[in-house]
This record gives sequence, structure tokens and C-alpha cells, in this order.
Amino acid sequence: MKLANTPITQHTFNGHSFYLKRDDLLHPEFSGNKARKFMALLEDDFPNVTTLIGYGSPQANSLYSLAALAKLKGWQLEFYVSHIPNWLKQNPTGNYQAALSLNAKLIEVSELHPNDYIQQIRQPDERCLFVEEGGRSPIAERGIKQLAQEIIDWKNSQNISSLAVTLPSGTGTTALYLTKHLALHNVEVLTCACVGGKDYLTLQFDSLNEPLHPAILTADEKSKHQFGKLYAQDYQMWQALKQQTKVEFDLLYDPYMWQCLQYWRKENPNQPLLYIHQGGLLGNVSMEKRYQRKFT
Ligand SMILES: *Cc1c(COP(=O)(O)O)cnc(C)c1O
Repeated sequence: MKLANTPITQHTFNGHSFYLKRDDLLHPEFSGNKARKFMALLEDDFPNVTTLIGYGSPQANSLYSLAALAKLKGWQLEFYVSHIPNWLKQNPTGNYQAALSLNAKLIEVSELHPNDYIQQIRQPDERCLFVEEGGRSPIAERGIKQLAQEIIDWKNSQNISSLAVTLPSGTGTTALYLTKHLALHNVEVLTCACVGGKDYLTLQFDSLNEPLHPAILTADEKSKHQFGKLYAQDYQMWQALKQQTKVEFDLLYDPYMWQCLQYWRKENPNQPLLYIHQGGLLGNVSMEKRYQRKFT
């Protein structure tokens, strides 16, 4: 199975035109940037593997994508988490619920960090395939290179000479490999640090050992943007995007990227911009509930 060639649509936001790469439409279950990052695992044959092993948050987009991948491959997913909140156990929603319905096994380990538990206690053998949290791994490069190629082909077909490609970062894996494969094509990659700030994102880039880094934009804020925290500005941005573009964006990463882009636009009013929609809409269900409780 090959998942590729998502559409690129054109929109206007706050008076500025931009293009949108619709990776949210890659596949109904296996979509967004996690699908790009895990694409090599979907494509290759692993004749000995029966079990996929990962870890992270019980609400993470990567949990759902790994569950979908496991189902497509006929594997059992074991996903290790530090804690599943009671409210989530009692009322499963979003990525957590969808992963359970795809038969994922969630395992709570409180005594050790999930990664240490996997390495020291679970000890994956040759029947297991282990993936880093959020897909921060060189295995992600192949799928992201394919995304870069789709962007290059589109740019050439549109006769666009200079292009800015933009996407928010968690681990930064997607933005980093896009930078690597777009640099020779007169494309600059702009990102922002949604998890842990600029220095932390730079460390994550360094851990993947690629010399070229994307530009890290910031918004004009005094305090750092904290991952998963509710900001009135983020919710307003998300609603305005939906209203003006008729597209639903992700509520965890995208609103901050768009705030950074408002500042960038002032300095770069005419630069063609391609925004990568990285999926993750299932995670919006619980985020939007939290926002509604807080702000309405
Ligand atoms: C995982 C994710 C990101 C972050 O991707 P990285 O490659 O870790 O930087 C951004 N947006 C969405 C919707 C995601 O699911």
C-alpha cells in the first residue's frame, strides 16, 4: 500500500493567501505527519515481527497512528504510558478511544519511565518492532522525503520560484527532514517550538544529526508557549482559521504556528506560503471540550 499525493488547496486567512498541503486526507485512519513518519514501516516487510511497541501520552496522535499501522500490518500494538487519567478511562474519547477500538493494548507503568520499562523489563526481541516517542527516528526520513518530493513537483508545476513551507514542531523530526530534502529547491522551512521552547527543539534537531535546521519562528510573547496548556488566543486563532478557510486545523500545534506566522507575514508580505496540515484532528475532541469548559 502506498499513501501519497494529498491535494494542495488555496485559501485566504486574515487577508493573505496561502496554500495548504492536505496531509490530513492521507488515509482515514493512518493520516497526518505520523503516517508520513511511519510510512517506511508500512511499506517494508517484517516477516518476524508480530508486536509493535511504543510509548507516550494516552492522548497522543502517535498512539492512534501506531494502532492504525498495527492493524494494517496485522501486528499487536503495545503502548506504554505513565498514567491514564481516571476521567479518560471512564469516558474514553479521541485518540485513546480510537486506539482501543483498533485493539491497541495500553499498559500503565508508574514505577519506571515507559522507555526504561520497555528496555529493562519488557526487553523487545526479534518479534518486536520498537518506535521512539512521536516517531523521532531516522526511520521517519523516507516518508518525509516523499512529502518533500510532492512539494517540489507541485512547486515546479505552479512555476513558483521561491517558496516558504511551514509546519509546527513537536519533536521537530518532520520539519528537519523536510529542510534536508527541500534545501536545494529554493524552499525555506519555517517552524515553531510547540514543546519545550527553542533551545529544546534545537537539541532534538541535533539528536538526529542533520546539519541543516529549519528556521524557528516565535510569537511576540513574553512567556513561553506551554504544550497542552489552554490559551484563549489559541482557541480564537483556531476558530478564525476554521471560519475563514472552512478547514479544521489541529488544536494542539497549529494555533501557535499561526500566531508566529502573523509576525512573519509583516516582514514577508509577498512570499508564497505552503502550510502543511499534519492531521491530528481526533485529538481535537478532548481539547475542544477542555476549551469549552474553560472559556464559554
Ligand atoms: C506529531 C504532530 C506534530 C509534531 O510533529 P514532529 O515531527 O514531532 O515535530 C505536529 N502536528 C500534529 C498534528 C502532530 O500530530
